[in-house]
Amino acid sequence: MIVEDFLVINARGLYCRYGDFYLDPKEPSPRAIVSHAHGDHAVRGNDIVYCTPATAAIMKHRYQKNAGNTILTYNWSESFSLNGVLISFIPAGHILGSAQILMVYKDVRYLYTGDYKLQLDSTCEKIEFVNADVLISESTFADPTVQHPSATDEIKKLNSFSHNVLLGSYALGKAQRLIRLLSDYCPQRHVLVHHSIIGLNKIYEQFGFSLGKYELYTRKLMKNPDQNLVYIVPPLTFNSYIRAKNVVRAFASGWMNLQTDNDLKILISDHVDWNDILIMIKHVEPRELWTLHGNGKHLKSYFKDQLTVKLLNHAD
Ligand SMILES: [Zn+2]
Ligand SMILES: [Zn+2]
Repeated sequence: MIVEDFLVINARGLYCRYGDFYLDPKEPSPRAIVSHAHGDHAVRGNDIVYCTPATAAIMKHRYQKNAGNTILTYNWSESFSLNGVLISFIPAGHILGSAQILMVYKDVRYLYTGDYKLQLDSTCEKIEFVNADVLISESTFADPTVQHPSATDEIKKLNSFSHNVLLGSYALGKAQRLIRLLSDYCPQRHVLVHHSIIGLNKIYEQFGFSLGKYELYTRKLMKNPDQNLVYIVPPLTFNSYIRAKNVVRAFASGWMNLQTDNDLKILISDHVDWNDILIMIKHVEPRELWTLHGNGKHLKSYFKDQLTVKLLNHAD
């Protein structure tokens, strides 16, 4: 029987009282199972962290001593048990090392997606589908009006001109995906990378995901216009270059509101869009769908009587 309060949201985040652990807690917690290393999922200062080896490597790189008192890592095929809840990690296809978290308790399977995507991305493990009784899904873009274009079509926009491009990107995950896409689909482009991204690139390469050709940015490289350069920078740097001359400004994101002030739209998202959420649900075949992050109201009305949909969070 599905335990309706198997996961609840409290002040620290998403909590499982039966196993006495948190999933991606927002505050430092005694036992944190971390789906992936993005800052809104992996906070510093947890006591015991349970995660994949790649997530551990990124957290240690970013947080150093504060990555967690004890960090326990598990490969894709391994499982471990916390107070009678059997836990394992399934690839989520979101960024390097990102995991869905499968929890089996009293023969009922609860699958927490973390962030996930179905689009191809050769810089991380491909998503795997497993069955579950309860699917706990992020609903960041759970809106029928949101459909992400293909990432390859988006990046190929940079082939139609030779102006230098200032390309804003989150440093972890998106930046590595962009470098790989540019290497594969815009080979004439010369990729320069902000220093804050280089260390993360190295971790990707250590885990066997080659990114192609890129170089550390130096100021003098961008001075000459129309050199077919692409300079990938994190959001803060991107915003500080608001008056940059002789460059085409673009920010790679699935969020429309991050596209508006720029010269070119690059809609590349590492989250599922509406159709891909529906495909995921088809594969998982859950009896109940619990949503968090974003707003599950469209899913609730779409599935009406076919599937129990419960909104764990209030829309954020
Ligand atoms: Zn994420
Ligand atoms: Zn997230």
